[in-house]
Amino acid sequence: MRPKDPCRIAVLLVLGLVALSAGSRETLAAEQAAPSAAVEVAPGDFVLPGVIALSNQQNAGQISNSGFVVGRDGVAVIDTGGSMIAGKRLLEAVRAKTDLPVLYVIFTHGHPDHALGAAAFVDLKPVFVGHSALPDVLASHGDDYLRATQRLIGEANFAGTRIVAPTLLVEGVKELDLGGRKLKLETWPVGHTNADLTVSDEASGVLFLGDLLFSGHIPALDGKLGGWLNNLKKLRERPVRLVIPGHGPASMAWPQAADAQEAYLRRLRDDVGEAIRKGWTLREAAGTAAASERPKWRLFDDFNARNATSAYHELEWE
Ligand SMILES: [Zn+2]
Repeated sequence: MRPKDPCRIAVLLVLGLVALSAGSRETLAAEQAAPSAAVEVAPGDFVLPGVIALSNQQNAGQISNSGFVVGRDGVAVIDTGGSMIAGKRLLEAVRAKTDLPVLYVIFTHGHPDHALGAAAFVDLKPVFVGHSALPDVLASHGDDYLRATQRLIGEANFAGTRIVAPTLLVEGVKELDLGGRKLKLETWPVGHTNADLTVSDEASGVLFLGDLLFSGHIPALDGKLGGWLNNLKKLRERPVRLVIPGHGPASMAWPQAADAQEAYLRRLRDDVGEAIRKGWTLREAAGTAAASERPKWRLFDDFNARNATSAYHELEWE
């Protein structure tokens, strides 16, 4: 079968991000599975790490890295985890460090494992901030994200989870001031998704990359392979000290943190390109592309064929 409808392919790819639970039906306390304390990666910059896994009942959707930055007047939260309960856990981690008001909740993109914890912050009345394309992404995919997440993490973990759309939209660059501490928000051409946004804390030299960077967890392509590689090339030139990946360690040294992911994306591009030149079918390409990268990544079998499918449709027009 060769899916032709690009919209349908996009939905399938995105659902893959939360598809296939670990299979266990046991209801373990979510608190046992994922960290509850934030790591201070630089003065005033914190990360609550997610576990490298697909969303399931044990991790309750806390599978991506969330961050927060504390200024003189308040706090900016960057990504909220994949459920109401993950968002609540993040809020507890914030409150363990500061009582200052949460002024902003920033979305690095719309994927459910990063965005669905936002509901936990609504009562605090922060400004929700995202890429100018994000409201459309959430309007078109939000119901699918919610349904898939509910199925994977279970009813108890899911309770209260809902879509929260950003109201402060960014196109290009925007500065937010936390009081003596400025954050530079920047949107990127279509790469990991079509609504990628990074957050730079100029004072500390820390850059929150969202899912423009994966480490350990195989990269998941839901945008454009060529665009993602171009974005990485530009990001490499930034005078940044530490980056926060969307999935992986709490922080990593830059730019060497990009090496493994770039090697994977290039291998995927080269293998799929060669398959197209040889006249291979989509199925043949998806079954073999980037196979040499398999030992290097967790969750390879959950995402690689989908990545190759997406790359095939992108590259067959070039
Ligand atoms: Zn993502």
